[in-house]
Amino acid sequence: MIVKEVGILHNLISDKEIIIVYEKLDKMYPDAFCGLIHDSTFELLIATILSAQCTDKRVNIITEELFKNYKTPEDILKLGQKKLKEIIKTCGLAENKSKNIMKTCKMLVDEFDSKVPKNDFELLKLNGVGIKTTNVVLSVGFGVPRMPVDTHVFRVSNRIGLVNAKTVGETEKTLTERYEKDKWIRLHHLLIFHGRDLCKARNPKCEICNLKDICLYYSKGDKNDKK
Ligand code: SF4
Repeated sequence: MIVKEVGILHNLISDKEIIIVYEKLDKMYPDAFCGLIHDSTFELLIATILSAQCTDKRVNIITEELFKNYKTPEDILKLGQKKLKEIIKTCGLAENKSKNIMKTCKMLVDEFDSKVPKNDFELLKLNGVGIKTTNVVLSVGFGVPRMPVDTHVFRVSNRIGLVNAKTVGETEKTLTERYEKDKWIRLHHLLIFHGRDLCKARNPKCEICNLKDICLYYSKGDKNDKK
């Protein structure tokens, strides 16, 4: 992802303003939380792997069926890659995702006593698990303060001026430097909700957005985008 894609023309909003942004988003989205339905950290891990280039809505449809009968790494290993691939086929990249999930389940059973590890080093060993998935599992699954950056967090935080970043890594670094640790997990969910609701990739609904008096994209952006 590059800055040009989100139309960034600016620097950063002030430290005082980033707190106002947080408070406004907090009021706008009281129910903001992880959109992936799960009953365990293992289910969260699998759902997050499935969510790559797929909507939470679609993943939830798939996992509703999958987790009915397959709730543990052992269950999924017994199911086998072929049947798993069939169940998850509508989320895209099913071949790769099913292979990664099988390898991840095997490693969980063989090396981690069938439990999802609670640290970056071990999580990153699992197939199909990168930095974003690690941060989601640690923050949502274990309550460890993290700031997972997906496409919504990247776009929205750059538009508002919370960050002025060229990459996901820079975005994570700046957000975690500018906000106190106790705000990271909630801020992640708030930015995702705002990105889905109003600050969409195309045609953000700036005119009805409570952040327009602060947002740098609104004050300096392309008027044609303010639909
Ligand atoms: S004013 Fe527009 S660009 Fe800024 S946060 Fe709101 S919807 Fe997004």
